[in-house]
Amino acid sequence: MIAAGRRSYSFEFFPPKTGQGERVLWQALRRVEAVDPSFVSVTYGAGGSSRERTTDLTQRIAEHTTLRPVAHLTSVGHSVAELRRIIGRYADAGVRDVLVLRGDPPGDPRGPWTRHPGGLDHAVDLVRLVRELGDFSIAVAAFPERHPRSPDWDSDIRHFVAKCRAGADYAITQMFFRAEDYFRLRDRLDAAGCDTPVIPEIMPATRYEQIRRFAELSDATFPPDLARRLHAARHDPDEAHRVGVEHATALAQHLLDEDAPGLHYITLNQSTAALDIHRRLSLPTHPADQ
Ligand code: FAD
Repeated sequence: MIAAGRRSYSFEFFPPKTGQGERVLWQALRRVEAVDPSFVSVTYGAGGSSRERTTDLTQRIAEHTTLRPVAHLTSVGHSVAELRRIIGRYADAGVRDVLVLRGDPPGDPRGPWTRHPGGLDHAVDLVRLVRELGDFSIAVAAFPERHPRSPDWDSDIRHFVAKCRAGADYAITQMFFRAEDYFRLRDRLDAAGCDTPVIPEIMPATRYEQIRRFAELSDATFPPDLARRLHAARHDPDEAHRVGVEHATALAQHLLDEDAPGLHYITLNQSTAALDIHRRLSLPTHPADQ
């Protein structure tokens, strides 16, 4: 996927539940298609019909657009036999790019982890399974502020490196709002001898309540200054958009200037903020682009 060493610019979508949501999504996909991103990714739901929608949407993007879809896949709630079937379905549809994740316990994402009786325990096991099943490009998750369940940095880095050694080609981070969190993670990976590219995830923080909730769920730090400015603009959507885009553009620019291998934008199926950020960046030439 990013094997050519070029910077990667990508956008994340989720499968909508309604006809109206579907129309909004396709408008956003067409706008993103116009900037020729490296890939778009489609999130995988916590269970049931939302999972079918992920596989369907990923296949439709592959069939009806020029975009390269990356399918998120989690092992939570699946037996190995089911996981094999899903991966086989992607391969049959020509989808060769997967973001491999463990997922969180359904119901209470912060609850204790329980493996499906016929399933897998950690993302590293799913990386091995996908590798065994075919010639896929594999991404995994990285956490600039450490995975919320990791007892310490040592184990967090050790298990991340194990995913890379098992066959991950690159990683995408959890959302974060301070560049230094990404740089510290990169230093830790350097020290562990891991050179797998880690693409920072950019979340446009354009709505105070939404970001407060996401930050709480993911244990990401919501910097007080950003929180204060967004809170002050909570009844003025244009101003909140301006604050969020300005913050995310500065963060993204800093990351690129310090040689991040790309950016992965969260869109929440609304491409406007992500595209506003992307268009404002001055994209420095990556040494590997030459
Ligand atoms: P793992 O790599 O398995 O790590 C989970 C925890 O277990 C960590 O603390 C790790 O250190 C520890 N661990 C790993 N291996 C071992 C081991 N061998 N022994 C002991 N401990 C170990 N969730 C969804 O449901 N759908 C999505 O589409 C989705 N997309 C995401 C996209 C990105 C970019 C990111 C960053 C996260 C996404 N998530 C998604 C959330 C993700 O599923 C959760 O954060 C989950 O808790 C961790 O997944 P993981 O793949 O990092 O798990």
